[in-house]
Amino acid sequence: MAEAFETKTTEETGRLLHSTDPGGLSAEEARKRLEQYGPNRLQEPEQPGFFSRLLSQFMDPLIYVLAAAGVISVFLGEIGDACIIAAVAALNGAVGMIQEGKAKRALDALKKMTRLKAVVRRDQTDQEIDAAELVPGDLVVLDAGRQVPADLRLLWTESLRAEESALTGEAAPVHKDAGFSAAAGLPVGDRKNMAYMSSNVTAGRGLGMVTATGMDTEIGRIARLIREAPMEATPLQKRLGDLGGALSILAVALCAALFGLAVWQKRDVGEMLITAISLAVAAVPEGLPAVVTIVLALSVSRMARVHTIVRRLPSVETLGAVSVVCSDKTGTLTMNRMTVEEVLDAGELLDEGVSGRRRRPGRGKGAMAPGQEELLRAFVLCNDAELNKKGRIGDPGELALLEYAEKEGPWTKGELERQLPRTAERAFDPERKRMTTVHRTETGIVSYTKGAPDVILERCSRYLSGGGERPLTGSSRRRLQDRISWLSSQGLRVLGAARSDGDGRKEEDMVFLGLAAMADPPRPEAAHAVAMFKRAHVRTVMITGDHRDTALAIARRLGIAEDGTQCISGAELDRLDDAALKERAETAAVFSRVSPDHKVRIVRALKENGSIVAMTGDGVNDAPSLKAADVGIAMGQTGTDVAKQAADMVLTDDNFATIEKAIEEGRGVYENIKKAVIFLLSSNFGEIMTMFTAIALSLPSPLKASHILWINLITDSLPALALGTDKNDGPALMEEPPRGKDESLFSRGGMVCTLFYGFLIAVISLAAFLRLPVGILAAEGKRITAESLSLVLGDPVVLARSQTYAFTVLGLSQLFHAVGMRDVGRSVFRMNHLENRLMLAAAALGVLLQVLVTENSRLVALFQTAALSGTEWRELLFLAAAPLAAHELLAGLSRISGARGTAEKERSGS
Ligand code: ATP
Repeated sequence: MAEAFETKTTEETGRLLHSTDPGGLSAEEARKRLEQYGPNRLQEPEQPGFFSRLLSQFMDPLIYVLAAAGVISVFLGEIGDACIIAAVAALNGAVGMIQEGKAKRALDALKKMTRLKAVVRRDQTDQEIDAAELVPGDLVVLDAGRQVPADLRLLWTESLRAEESALTGEAAPVHKDAGFSAAAGLPVGDRKNMAYMSSNVTAGRGLGMVTATGMDTEIGRIARLIREAPMEATPLQKRLGDLGGALSILAVALCAALFGLAVWQKRDVGEMLITAISLAVAAVPEGLPAVVTIVLALSVSRMARVHTIVRRLPSVETLGAVSVVCSDKTGTLTMNRMTVEEVLDAGELLDEGVSGRRRRPGRGKGAMAPGQEELLRAFVLCNDAELNKKGRIGDPGELALLEYAEKEGPWTKGELERQLPRTAERAFDPERKRMTTVHRTETGIVSYTKGAPDVILERCSRYLSGGGERPLTGSSRRRLQDRISWLSSQGLRVLGAARSDGDGRKEEDMVFLGLAAMADPPRPEAAHAVAMFKRAHVRTVMITGDHRDTALAIARRLGIAEDGTQCISGAELDRLDDAALKERAETAAVFSRVSPDHKVRIVRALKENGSIVAMTGDGVNDAPSLKAADVGIAMGQTGTDVAKQAADMVLTDDNFATIEKAIEEGRGVYENIKKAVIFLLSSNFGEIMTMFTAIALSLPSPLKASHILWINLITDSLPALALGTDKNDGPALMEEPPRGKDESLFSRGGMVCTLFYGFLIAVISLAAFLRLPVGILAAEGKRITAESLSLVLGDPVVLARSQTYAFTVLGLSQLFHAVGMRDVGRSVFRMNHLENRLMLAAAALGVLLQVLVTENSRLVALFQTAALSGTEWRELLFLAAAPLAAHELLAGLSRISGARGTAEKERSGS
């Protein structure tokens, strides 16, 4: 469809696309066209095939080192070793493929959830559908915050602006105008009467006809050139990458030293070369990035199940460190299920004095005083929501007004709009906190403005009473303000309405019509979430565009604020300089009547205080503050596409309590990664220490190359993954203060833990290795020296058995270590092991494999091990359980010191 629609008039466009009905296509026609043109979707870049994915698994430095070790083994005639190396490399590749597949599936599922929606006019009705179902000829309604879902020839625009950087590279929004006529050959960026797929509407409203969908759109044409952005590495992944790099260099240096030492000691150079290479392979923590990636990817799909879509992977980690959560009020802390409680016209408010008396709706249709009718007319006409049989589209407050009018008004919205058609408008803007529509009457024009009552009142000079206008005196203004305050302090959301005869675009010198008060009850689960945050040392701050009294009333009910001193209004904020704001932000709990640009200042002030800030937002203008926050959170239901794009994560249920779950998940993920990292590093450290000590003492190598590779690549990876995906105890996680932003994985005892268990594993493995020669020497009454031990170990039978002991203890002790690492502060007898079935499976598989390599005759030959007796197994198991014994001891100590700490806290508290 290469027609240049920008050069066509709107009528020509309709004719060309066979869509001339102002009520849009019929459902039947749309279905036919969908079959003809296919879904409105950009093709995904081609996915690599099975073999190229498999091949990429082997493009890894680790595999190169293994290959070198394999080739050397073949040269040395060690075919058994070569086979093991090949098996290890193949298994490593297979595990990598599975992990990658899992991560990709999780992300694909997310993509499906973030599908774009569009408002389409079909069969005379506006309805929200999946943007993929749009067809050429469809009529699409645009408003601020929406992404343009297909290429459109604009038919009608009202102050429409769109940001088209995806197409033109130009970030500043451009003005759109349906009436513009374009000359042929005009560049995309200058075609003001067109809106293009994937650009964003930043202001105004519009109606357009779909001219192209899917790959036929302008962005579709260049889509093939756009590569999907590579997955961003998280700070932790980066840090672990650096750590891995440093450790690898250290490991290689150590292994080179080991090899040099062996050569100097005149050992078998070939064998020592393979051993040193194997040790290097073992020491390089190559499993770390893989474990972190899969842990994060799994957490992303877990979070999706609890209504959080993670758009940027790093935010999962940052979530765990969040210390302040800034939340919108409407819809997030409240239900966003608004119902009109009262509609009070100006005459009633000022002249009849109905203070405090709440009049319930339900007086019946038609029984309406002129003042009431005019007020309701304003609320219905100055309203962009749609209430029809296909659903409810628009702002919940506006929908509530329509529902009220439907019940109480003497006319329907349709009738009113036909009587007084809208001719112009100034769209709602949270900065101005009001909107205006202009309507044609039989005699001229009338404008209606609705918005925040204080803002409306400021702009009125008269009020309507008994059908006539009266001046607004100072005292009547004060009475109205008192009334607004009173209603707001009940937690009601109050809107004001005004009329102006003539083009009211200036929104000044208007006639005040009255107020509507709406109830939007707090979400019951939000109070619990706020309380949980308090325990977790996370502060909740409410940031709202609403009135101070409404905000404070709701904040009090939720436990966010206690009194008015914790409340800062937008006007006050304007008077504070950055330094003063920074100071006030330390204790403020509610920011009211703020506009979106205030939000950026608030985030900055909080960040300067050292807080890690999570911030929610939904509007177009919230994008900068969502970006400025450490974790930007957009609302899935009420949020605009623009806010969602700027955010790090999206709450699909718009619920504050979901943030608490997300933070808990973030903390859990960090804990798990920490456990997996400490486990892997302490195990690697144990292996290196075992080998290095033996070689330095001129003893034969306690482990063969194949043993090292087996333990490292087969036995270690599954427990590490099991730790990474462990279920964390939610309440316990939320009792600690958040970790510092730059806190290392090795702080809070992490380093000591790594070194301690590394040493312990080395000590018991060496003890196992030397058990037999020491026994022989002792039985013969000989002195135990490095030399005499070497001599005894010179016997190949003794050496094979001793190596089997070391191999078994090293392998099993790591499994025991992994089980303990699930929770360093808790006895294994108090853990719920069924919660981590992967760990049970890993431990069972580990033991099975360890038994197989000593009991299966083929594997015994391959690994050059010795079959063990029942007594030997028992003794080795006893030795291998040392990390678990140490764990029990340390857990017991930490329980005692924890109990003492609590008692002391209680004492000092009382
Ligand atoms: P929050 O920021 O917590 O979501 P909010 O909805 O009150 O709360 P904004 O959307 O910034 O915040 O709106 C600011 C004020 O503008 C509201 O308090 C209300 O008085 C007024 N307002 C909101 N929506 C409309 C609308 N559709 N038409 C007219 N006025 C509105």
